Amino acid sequence: MQEGCDKFCAFCVVPYTRGAEISRPLPRILAEAEALVAQGVREITLLGQNVNAWHGGEGGLGALIRHLARIEGLERIRYTTSHPNDMDDGLIAAHAEEDKLMPFLHLPVQSGSDRILKAMNRKHRAEDYLRLVERLRAARPDLALSSDFIVGFPGETEADFEATLDLVRAVGFAQAYSFKYSPRPGTPAAEREPLPEEVMDDRLRRLQALLTEQEQAARAAMLGQVVPVLFEKPGRLPGQMGGAKPAQHGCPCDRPGVLPRSDSPRADHQPRLPFAGRRTRPLGEHFRGFDNNAAQALPAVRIPAAIYPDSLSDREKTSECIAKACLSKGTGRTNRVRIRHPAGAGEGV
Ligand code: SF4
Repeated sequence: MQEGCDKFCAFCVVPYTRGAEISRPLPRILAEAEALVAQGVREITLLGQNVNAWHGGEGGLGALIRHLARIEGLERIRYTTSHPNDMDDGLIAAHAEEDKLMPFLHLPVQSGSDRILKAMNRKHRAEDYLRLVERLRAARPDLALSSDFIVGFPGETEADFEATLDLVRAVGFAQAYSFKYSPRPGTPAAEREPLPEEVMDDRLRRLQALLTEQEQAARAAMLGQVVPVLFEKPGRLPGQMGGAKPAQHGCPCDRPGVLPRSDSPRADHQPRLPFAGRRTRPLGEHFRGFDNNAAQALPAVRIPAAIYPDSLSDREKTSECIAKACLSKGTGRTNRVRIRHPAGAGEGV
């Protein structure tokens, strides 16, 4: 529902490859969402390179979420990827007030050093990010946070990297994506002197050790809780279903008799979204191998052609790809699942 970026971070090609920010208009998004929900979709993820910069209607993304939340039958709303500078009051209030907005937020920060954030042209400081996290958690205390990190950005010193570790310790992330800096041709940062590979390797290892510790702690905190899980695809192992908890951590479940189960071998498991954008697939393809009659009997999901008039430009058609539309199991209901250690595995949750 949003595409492109006006921010021009020094390391990123998106503003050059995707162009300026454009937003799909509110009525078109609502019409598509209503059509999807009428066909059995229970969860919608709003997608955009800068999704919270969406300006296709009055009140921004917070208002759009409130409109979507009024759609009967829609159980879950998510959005990604957001920029800290576009987290406005309305969107933070939506996290506090809209139960259908899941308590998970991917909010990239990239670095904890103000010097590096400036060199990256991120237009926010580490302190701004920390204050924003405080406001978000005040609004939604159970909010799980995820982020992106680049280590070894040109010019990053050990002190800059330590500032990133400090920020990670201060926030406590439920999950994160971290990478060594790699130059993208045509971006300002690509002209700068890179750091030695071994320095980047060492910093990435240290950062990932800390992030892994935090992720494991977040998962361990779920043990014994009963949470609603939306099952949407075969699990990784035979007999499992894969689903998502509100805070997004994957939730394999292996209780045949309670949930749909698959006996198909792992090679036959190709978890994919039921559909994205204009592509449509009959559900049978996604539930191939399931022995749950109800799941097999679900109708094919198709996006009505009327939503994609031929008059749309190719770019608009691309940006129509809003939907991560997750179908629940055959009963069409979210299941409540107690989180436990997988039997015998002794690792993860
Ligand atoms: S990193 Fe994100 S905010 Fe920065 S230029 Fe790329 S898409 Fe835009």
